[in-house]
Amino acid sequence: MNHFPEPATSASLVRREVAGLPAYDPGADTDKVAALSGTAHVIKLSNNESPYGASPSVAEALSPRLADGLSRYPDPTGKRLAEAIGTRLSVPVDRIVLGNGSENILELLCQAVLGPRDLVTTQAPGFSLHEIFPRMVGARVEKVPVTAEFGFDAAAWRDALALGPKLVFLANPCNPTGAILGTGELERVVAGTPRSALLVLDEAYCEFARPNPEYPDGLAVLRGQDRPWIVLRTFSKAYGLAGLRVGFGVASDSALVRALDRVRTPYNVNQLAQDAAVAALGDHAHLAETVRRTGLEIARVTDRLRGAGFSVVASSANFLFIDTNRRSDQVTHELHRAGIIVKAWREPGYENFIRASLSTPEDNDFFVRCLTETCAKDRP
Ligand SMILES: *Cc1c(COP(=O)(O)O)cnc(C)c1O
Repeated sequence: MNHFPEPATSASLVRREVAGLPAYDPGADTDKVAALSGTAHVIKLSNNESPYGASPSVAEALSPRLADGLSRYPDPTGKRLAEAIGTRLSVPVDRIVLGNGSENILELLCQAVLGPRDLVTTQAPGFSLHEIFPRMVGARVEKVPVTAEFGFDAAAWRDALALGPKLVFLANPCNPTGAILGTGELERVVAGTPRSALLVLDEAYCEFARPNPEYPDGLAVLRGQDRPWIVLRTFSKAYGLAGLRVGFGVASDSALVRALDRVRTPYNVNQLAQDAAVAALGDHAHLAETVRRTGLEIARVTDRLRGAGFSVVASSANFLFIDTNRRSDQVTHELHRAGIIVKAWREPGYENFIRASLSTPEDNDFFVRCLTETCAKDRP
């Protein structure tokens, strides 16, 4: 008797949740856009990277590792980095978790906390991994729309939180809009999130938002709360280390970190990333200068785009969410021919929007010019 089931194809082996996942869209390929546009200077505005790079102290910290450290596995506890973060934020190291980018921690949280049919609440438009990782483990995702002015919809959130989610993903500033929740708004979500849920506050762009007096320090808001929470931050954006992959979380308690340690590989953060992050964290001046220049460009480019007739969401991050008034994938195609990569938004209701990170003033000016020309072309 044959006890084996029907022969499989690769496709038939894949779990239903995985087959149905939306693909993560990392943006167009730089080499292809270089070939298409015929320019070597491709302007990549699709991934919210820093045009100012990492602190010069990072290269210094890495050179001894490159010389003789590559044959060793990384420190599985990341203790030097965790201690540096803990000292900076006045948090004990046993409440800090390190990730291969903060997206790694999003994934670990879903693996540790969620099961099939659990409910996750997040915002739309939003960061795609806040939806993809929960769905990967079979959870359901409820997306709460922003208001017509791209603000936080307190009433809609109250209703959504009443449905009893097991996990809440909230980004502040929000990606893709760059809008922030103010202190009062954040406090209301925290108060309204059932204590049966894990509250995940994703602060990937917090460094850019801090100069905004309305922007709350998520750690300060959550610190005194007697409920499970975690704040996620990253070295990929303002610190300019996206290529090395390193982010961290500060948790309400060490039990959550220990749970994540069970689902994480001990070597999830490579040694170069750990060393680079310690060096980057020590260079206050470089971070301050990155934030200062980005803020100036955000204000200047927002004005220029609005002056050209575009509707642009007020951003406290390093990117702008722009209504192009036409299908955004057509706009991005035209921009590729000029050597510019931005992200066409695909969530329902936002198919006319692009998200563009800011770069240097020269590159930003070229982007504004090309976008204006592209969108003027087919105007009546
Ligand atoms: C960029 C980003 C991250 C992830 O960054 P990592 O490079 O994985 O640290 C997480 N959340 C949001 C909202 C982001 O935009």
